[in-house]
Amino acid sequence: MTILAIVVPCYNEEDMLPETIEQLRALRQQLIDEQLISSESKIVFVDDGSRDRTWSIIYKACLRYEEMKGIKLAGNAGHQHALLAGMFAAKQMADCIVTMDADLQDDIYVVREFVRKFQEGYDIVYGVRRKRDVDSYVKRRTAEMFYRMMNRIGVQLIYNHADYRLMSRRAVEALAQFREVNMFLRGVVPLLGFPSTTVYYDRKERKAGVTKYPFMKMIRFAFDGLTSFSMVPIRFVSLLGFCSFFVSVLFALYVLFLKMTGHTQTGWTSLIMSIWLVGGLQLIAIGLVGEYVGKVYKETKQRPRYIVDVDLLNGPIIARHEREKLTEEGIS
Ligand code: UDP
Ligand code: MG
Repeated sequence: MTILAIVVPCYNEEDMLPETIEQLRALRQQLIDEQLISSESKIVFVDDGSRDRTWSIIYKACLRYEEMKGIKLAGNAGHQHALLAGMFAAKQMADCIVTMDADLQDDIYVVREFVRKFQEGYDIVYGVRRKRDVDSYVKRRTAEMFYRMMNRIGVQLIYNHADYRLMSRRAVEALAQFREVNMFLRGVVPLLGFPSTTVYYDRKERKAGVTKYPFMKMIRFAFDGLTSFSMVPIRFVSLLGFCSFFVSVLFALYVLFLKMTGHTQTGWTSLIMSIWLVGGLQLIAIGLVGEYVGKVYKETKQRPRYIVDVDLLNGPIIARHEREKLTEEGIS
């Protein structure tokens, strides 16, 4: 039966945790009772360098309940890295991993749908918010703008999907091959290419504690996402350079015309021409250097070139009992 691990990153969540722990335990028990998941399923809390009592709450819960596991990071590594720490630690002991926030803003009972989809054969199941009327107007609008912009520059993002998702073990193992330090999960996971599907749910209000993503952190997150996937910003500089170079040529003709018809001050012509020309050339040069820096950046990330889905070359992928079953079904 499916062994599930639920990974929850926590940063200063002492107000929320006791409730989260109880709710997730209840969820786990219910799914076990429904015979959807194995009783070996675990709940993994990652303390992302909290400064409050978060770790002591996690630690005590681990002593008390067998299904509870905890990891404590030495410092505040950030939401994305805390997620990765939890997933990589859990991948040995689980068939599939669900990641969710500690504040229970996302309906936890859609995990049932997640697991069903996994059992149908999907490696990745995205939780997608149906509506976000509990988020502030600014947060909603900026988020929307972000998805639009990312899609326009060619980064495939799932609209209104945050980091609430299920991944199979092999998907997490493939993810581990992405060696980049700045991991923008929402952009990388769709790159894996495994069979995926979406499940819709309603997002609720945070019950306790405050958001750990204030406005500036959100902007930084968005900018990180943009720059770790795309060279469009640097291309923009090159484009600007070419435009200004082009304008400088037109302008030069115009200025020369003015000079010849005698409508100018002495020295103005050469001055204005060189400002435009040199400005344009400089921008082109910066853009060019940027192209190379971009290439170096791509190389240093050492992303895997491809991810194998099925490999019948190495090892007995089809076990004997499965082969017998196939023969019974008439495929031989
Ligand atoms: N979080 C974390 N490290 C951080 C910031 C946030 O592990 O540096 C966790 C936080 O405890 C929560 C999740 O990431 O479980 C999402 O944060 P939050 O709910 O504050 O974000 P929001 O839902 O407001 O976007
Ligand atoms: Mg939240």
